[in-house]
Amino acid sequence: MEGEEAVLPSGRRVPLEAVQFLPPTIPTKIVCVGFNYRDHAQELEVEIPKEPLFFLKPPSALVAHGQPVVYPPHTRQLDYEGELAVVIGRRCRDVRPEEAREVILGYSILNDVTARDVQKVEKQWVRAKAFDGSAPYGPWVETELDPSDVRITTRVNGEVRQDSRTRFMIFDVFTLVAEASRYMTLEPGDVIATGTPPGVGPLRPGDVVEITVEGVGSLSNPVTGGPPADTGVEG
Ligand code: ZN
Repeated sequence: MEGEEAVLPSGRRVPLEAVQFLPPTIPTKIVCVGFNYRDHAQELEVEIPKEPLFFLKPPSALVAHGQPVVYPPHTRQLDYEGELAVVIGRRCRDVRPEEAREVILGYSILNDVTARDVQKVEKQWVRAKAFDGSAPYGPWVETELDPSDVRITTRVNGEVRQDSRTRFMIFDVFTLVAEASRYMTLEPGDVIATGTPPGVGPLRPGDVVEITVEGVGSLSNPVTGGPPADTGVEG
């Protein structure tokens, strides 16, 4: 990566609990993919897509590990979506799937937080998926991971809600990087969120949502703020 030589580790070690996390990279964009798990598509009885359904989140949506997701006032159903995140390491365009490994820095975790009620009434998912707090990302980037078959689990207040494996992806990580790079230049630090397995569901203020990807770690965020206490939304 360009400029990489300029960053020198100090060698100083700090205990994890003493650290305030930041998003591990500063992406120019977060590329997301809808319906990319076979088991999730089957659960929703939607057809297996023939090509990836992409959408974008802006960098202003990011929240670091441990930071709150503030329940926005424009929704009454704020859902979690646990996802494996691919972090780009090199500027690239028109990458072939077999070259994709070379442009990937590593892997992290992204929670594609979604205003599900709003998503149902808009075609462009801006209010549903691009608001501040809609992209918890972290806690770090794991550079040594084979992403082809790792477990991905989402817990709300310690209770398992999603539990699947990346081998159920319809388009694998390398295909997604290649496909996205057909349309836009990918920059170092950019993130591709690879879609969510079955079991998406709502969050409420006071909840803690934690996504674990085997071989990467866990991304945990509390939910704070509105909506009115009785939303009438059921899990
Ligand atoms: Zn998603």
